[in-house]
Amino acid sequence: MSKDMDIINTLESEVRSYCRSFPTVFTQAKGYKMWDQKGKEYLDFFAGAGALNYGHNNPKMKEKLIEYITNDGITHSLDMASTAKAEFLNKFNEVILKPRKLEYKVMFPGPTGTNTVESALKLARKVTGRTDIISFTNGFHGMTIGSLSVTGNSMKRKGAGIPLQNVVTMPYDNYVDNQDSLDYLERFLEDSGSGVAIPAAMILETVQGEGGINAASFEWLKKVESICKRWGILLIVDDVQAGVGRTGTFFSFEGAEIKPDIVCLSKSLSGYGVPFAITLIRPDIDKFQPGEHNGTFRGNNHAFVTATSALDYWKDDEFEKDIKVKSEMIYSFLEKMVATYPELKGEVRGRGFMVGIASEVDGLPNKIAAKAFENGLIMETSGPLDEVFKLFPPLTIDEQGLKSGFEIIEESIKSIVKEPVTS
Ligand SMILES: *Cc1c(COP(=O)(O)O)cnc(C)c1O
Repeated sequence: MSKDMDIINTLESEVRSYCRSFPTVFTQAKGYKMWDQKGKEYLDFFAGAGALNYGHNNPKMKEKLIEYITNDGITHSLDMASTAKAEFLNKFNEVILKPRKLEYKVMFPGPTGTNTVESALKLARKVTGRTDIISFTNGFHGMTIGSLSVTGNSMKRKGAGIPLQNVVTMPYDNYVDNQDSLDYLERFLEDSGSGVAIPAAMILETVQGEGGINAASFEWLKKVESICKRWGILLIVDDVQAGVGRTGTFFSFEGAEIKPDIVCLSKSLSGYGVPFAITLIRPDIDKFQPGEHNGTFRGNNHAFVTATSALDYWKDDEFEKDIKVKSEMIYSFLEKMVATYPELKGEVRGRGFMVGIASEVDGLPNKIAAKAFENGLIMETSGPLDEVFKLFPPLTIDEQGLKSGFEIIEESIKSIVKEPVTS
C-alpha cells in the first residue's frame, strides 16, 4: 500500500467511506478522467455523486477563477454585497429563471446540500405555522438532524442518536407495484381519524439519487403538486442531485411542468466542485427576517465566479440536446446489459444521465463496481441494499468516453456473472 494511503488509513476517522470503495490515492483529474499516484487512468462514472456534471477542472471555469484570484477578487464576505454575487444573481435570473417563467427569490443558506434542505424545512414551518413534514420512502436529503429526519435510510437515521420527529413518511411513486400511492396519501389528509396532521410541506426528489435511482413519473409529480395546492401544503423539490442538468433539463421537474414553492440546489451548481448551495423561494413566502437564518460561508465568491461561467452551458438548448442524445446511448447500453446478461436479474432505472441497473442478486452491484474499479472505471452503488449500480458520468463526456466506459462495465459484468459459484 502507498505511504499516503497509509497516512489516511491511520489518521482519518473510521467514518471515511469513498476512499475504502476506491482504494487508491488520486493526484489529478480532467474532464471525465482521473489519475492516481501510480499513473493509472480511471474513467469517472461517478462525477462526485453529481457534483461534477461539467467534469473535473472545466477549462473555462478554471480560467475565470484563476483570473479572479489573480486580481485579488473578494474570497470571503459572509453575505455582503460583491460584484461576483451580483453577476451570479443576474445571470441566473436571465439564463435560468426568466426563460422558464419561474419567479423565485434566491437565498444563500450555507455551502452544502444539507444546508439548503434545512433552510427549506425551517422556512416552510415558519410560513405555515405547522410542525410536520411529509417525506417519501427512500428519500435522501442530507446528514444534519432536519435533513436526516426526512431521509429514509435506517442506518443513516440511526446515526442521529435522537428521535427524529415531526415527519411522516409516505410511499413514493411505485413503492408498491400497481398501487396509486397518492390516493393513499390523500386519504390520510382527508381523514381526521388518520393520525396525520396537515403538514407544512412535502419534500421529495424527482429521481431518488441515493435511495436507488427511483424516478417518479411526471404524472405522479403533477398529482403531488395538485394535492399540495388543494391542502395549502408547500412543495419542496430537493434538486441537489437531480438538478443542474442531470436528468436532462436544468431543473429536474421541468418535464413535469410543475412549479415547486421551494427548490434546493447544490452539488453541481458551482460547476467546479466548489461548495455552493441556494434555496429558491416563491416570493410571497420569502419570510425569514434579516439574519434569522445565517452562516459564515454563505457567499462563496469563488463559487459565484465558476457558477456564473457554468451558466453559459444553458444559454441555448444545445447542451440539453446533447445530453438527450448521450443519455439515449446510456439507456440503450443498460437495456442491452439487462437483456444480454439474464444472470443480473436486472432492471434499468432512472432518467437522463441519472440511471443505473437494479439487480435482484444480493451483493452483485457492489462486486461489479469493485471489478470496474480494478478495470479503470469509477462508479458507485445506491439503494438501501446497494442494489443498484449507478452510471453518473459528467454530462460533458464525449461519445468516445461513453463507449470506453461501456466496454469496461460490460467486461466487469461479464467476469462477475460468469464467476463460478463458490460455496
Ligand atoms: C447529496 C444530497 C444532499 C446533501 O448534500 P450535502 O452537500 O452532502 O450536504 C441532499 N439532498 C440530495 C438529494 C442529495 O443528493
